Amino acid sequence: ATDFARSTALVIGAGASGRAAAELLVFLGARVRLYDQNPGASVPDGVEPVLGAADVPAAAFAGVDLMVLSPGVPPERFRAAQQQFAPQARVHGEMSLSLAIAAARFGRLPTVLITGTNGKSTVTALTGALLAAGGMKPFVGGNLGVPLAAALQGLLRTGAPAPDALVLECSSFQLETLEHAATDVAMVLNITPDHLDRYPTLADYAATKARVFTGLHAGGLALLDAGDGWTEFLRARVGAGRLVLVDDPNGARVVGPGPGDSLVLPDGDSFPRRALPIPGRHNSKNALFALLAARHLGVDPAACLRGLEGFHGLPHRMTFVRERAGVRFYDDSKATNVASVLASLDGFDRPFVLIAGGRAKGDDLAPLRELLRRSGRALVAIGESADLFYPLADGVVPARRASTMAEAVEVAAALAGPGDAVVLSPACASYDWFKTTASGATPSPGWCGRCLRRSDTPA
Ligand code: ADP
Repeated sequence: ATDFARSTALVIGAGASGRAAAELLVFLGARVRLYDQNPGASVPDGVEPVLGAADVPAAAFAGVDLMVLSPGVPPERFRAAQQQFAPQARVHGEMSLSLAIAAARFGRLPTVLITGTNGKSTVTALTGALLAAGGMKPFVGGNLGVPLAAALQGLLRTGAPAPDALVLECSSFQLETLEHAATDVAMVLNITPDHLDRYPTLADYAATKARVFTGLHAGGLALLDAGDGWTEFLRARVGAGRLVLVDDPNGARVVGPGPGDSLVLPDGDSFPRRALPIPGRHNSKNALFALLAARHLGVDPAACLRGLEGFHGLPHRMTFVRERAGVRFYDDSKATNVASVLASLDGFDRPFVLIAGGRAKGDDLAPLRELLRRSGRALVAIGESADLFYPLADGVVPARRASTMAEAVEVAAALAGPGDAVVLSPACASYDWFKTTASGATPSPGWCGRCLRRSDTPA
């Protein structure tokens, strides 16, 4: 990575991953500027701050030969300025930069890239758990948990050995800036409407997801869900590598039905469904994706089985909180689009009061009305989109509005009876009410915190 050491870098966006990229480059010896339109953004030591201006000042481009875009900073927003002021600069995202530095320092590491609209974090964590059960020490993160740049800096600083594998959750925003990075397993779990406030059409969004295959080598594995509406579109973009379909008679599949279900891989390996503690058909598919990746990386079936058994899921995905007066409360706050709410609640084992709303993303809400009709008890509409959600219950179930989360839970509890559930499954992002994210990113005014996309981009 010697060329990084000599580079002058401009990092755009001071969220968690932008800061991590800036710190990593400083550590390597680069000269680094960090731009954010938020004048109060925090800037790591040794980094030259360029804060507050609505656009990157031309002077900040002086001598720049490397530009790093944070996830969700729309590349096109900065491309014109870059071409004008630093046309020779290489443009990376934080993940893409980190993969290049990791390859330069450690050589090729077995790499699994995971994307999709829903299930990314679950499959990423489960794949990591399967590899760990097989005795490997993988780095598991990316969009989930720790940015790769932060982990890499820690490793280089302490002289710790390289991880045995990289298991990376990739958002579509990270994929926008992913350059060719040697990949062993790449997967798109599913495509359903999301982020339509950022992408002009669902096809643009799907094409961005397909960038996950750009570095897949000929001996690698591409994974898609056979039942997804975008499979043919994605299949045409797989490129090198062997394609295996999930939920397909010739691919990986659930053989059932019932408590004796098995998760079966194309080579004949079979795992009892009940070994995996997390419920739902979507999680059966998630497990098939993870099992295919782990087997491809050489984890033996016995270790895979142990890995499944030890995986109890991630927080905020239908997490049981408590039971009060016969009402069970669940936190499903990671269900931030319509498809994920349906995955969580369609077929749920009890009637539920749904707490939903927040910063809407432009997907069609009508399926929620049908969900409420089938098994809802009531609806509590919250957040800036409360007026969009409230009418969904019209003529179907009782509805109320709430203007704080505490009020929402109280109102929902009052609407629920013994044997019911109260579920926070918002079908929206939460940047209308909450400023920081689990990963610690602080959004600048006008930007969404989770992915740092402009919140004022027209739908
Ligand atoms: P992501 O990281 O893509 O947001 P998560 O693993 O955090 O996905 O899961 C978020 C929510 O998405 C879950 O609570 C569940 O409702 C839904 N979900 C998970 N896996 C799938 C899947 N394979 N298909 C559809 N929905 C899913």
